[in-house]
Amino acid sequence: MLRNHFETEHNLFRDAFRSFLNKEVVPHQEEWEEAGVVDRSVWRKAGEMGFLLPWAEEEYGGTALKDFRYEQIMCEELAAINEPGFMIPLHSALCGPYIAEYGNAEQKARWLPGIIRGESILAVAMTEPSAGSDLAGMRTTAVDKGDHFVLNGSKVFISNGLLADLVIVAAKTDPANKHAMGLFVVERGMEGFERGRNLKKLGMKSQDTAELFFNNVKVPKENLLGDAKGGFFYLMNMLAQERLTNACGAVAGAEAALNATVDYVKERKAFDRPVAHFQNTRFKLAEMRTQIDVAQVFTDRCVMDHNQKKLTPEVAAEAKLFTTELLCKVVDEGVQLHGGWGYMWEYPICRMYANARIQRIFAGTSEIMKEIISRGMKL
Ligand SMILES: Cc1cc2nc3c(=O)[nH]c(=O)nc-3n(C[C@H](O)[C@H](O)[C@H](O)COP(=O)(O)OP(=O)(O)OC[C@H]3O[C@@H](n4cnc5c(N)ncnc54)[C@H](O)[C@@H]3O)c2cc1C
Repeated sequence: MLRNHFETEHNLFRDAFRSFLNKEVVPHQEEWEEAGVVDRSVWRKAGEMGFLLPWAEEEYGGTALKDFRYEQIMCEELAAINEPGFMIPLHSALCGPYIAEYGNAEQKARWLPGIIRGESILAVAMTEPSAGSDLAGMRTTAVDKGDHFVLNGSKVFISNGLLADLVIVAAKTDPANKHAMGLFVVERGMEGFERGRNLKKLGMKSQDTAELFFNNVKVPKENLLGDAKGGFFYLMNMLAQERLTNACGAVAGAEAALNATVDYVKERKAFDRPVAHFQNTRFKLAEMRTQIDVAQVFTDRCVMDHNQKKLTPEVAAEAKLFTTELLCKVVDEGVQLHGGWGYMWEYPICRMYANARIQRIFAGTSEIMKEIISRGMKL
């Protein structure tokens, strides 16, 4: 189905980003997968090309492209090449905005230029070993000591956990109020800030997902974003945009999985005919084609609504729920239609299957999306 919400400048941007990926990412994917982490240098190269935080103001080195379609294009192109480790959307569309939105002028001037150049890689640390969906249940604390806070606790499953130079850490700031938390920018090298091992995962092999430990870390007051008790609200506010990036990537990932499957079933023969000729194959593929088209229209509309600041948390949750569930269904059917070869790592559908599963879990599970949507229905 033809999409109609991109204009010439978006198509040019897509061409440029695609060539960048083909030159600087695709040749390294296997090596990064083996290493469990992408090479830092690719972040710098992306920064040089203007692909990091393109929405940021020119005074910080951005290009002031305040149009979420550019973020959408990057999510789509990364999904199309099935690269889960080079998380530009996390850096640009999730972490960067916390600093731009809630940081003061001094903090923005201090951090944004390095972030935009790809010299300072970002991560956000909310999840803890005993608290994920229930963020208010987190135990990490930040105690006010006058000119600094003292941070204690640990975080788990943090994307960019090893590479990150600046980690936005959520921590409780008032024992009497479980929703009182602050967002603290913890910098590489701060005393008491330790990283755990690179966690072994089902998929997303090129992504460094790690545990982080904070042991009496002295965080200067200048590293607190916004209000020391407003962090919970800030997180909730930003999650809608994060969920939209998940949706953009999920539809593109489903499209890539469908294409890989179509190519395969046309070639593969069973009972003297291409697998594509079985009615079961054609019907499965037709169902997927239809559902992806429907999901794409919905997601594109969400992007345009978001550009006008009209995307509600409930609709963003709908987008994440629908598209990530669809992605997982498509990769599963894709593996099935590949037969045993679909289970082999050398086949793209196998990696797509492994990479997709997390999409229904992180940035809020499908169940939490249903909670948000149903709350909006005043049930
Ligand atoms: C690869 C990877 C990368 C990640 N990256 C980051 C990151 O960069 N930063 C970060 O902070 N976190 C990150 N996470 C954490 C992720 O966001 C959490 O895993 C997720 O929010 C779920 O939390 P949990 O794992 O504690 O599961 P739990 O909250 O323990 O959930 C377990 C099950 O209970 C269900 N459940 C929980 N509450 C309810 C409810 N109210 N109603 C119905 N069902 C419910 C859940 O849906 C789930 O099925 C990452 C995780 C992974 C695996």
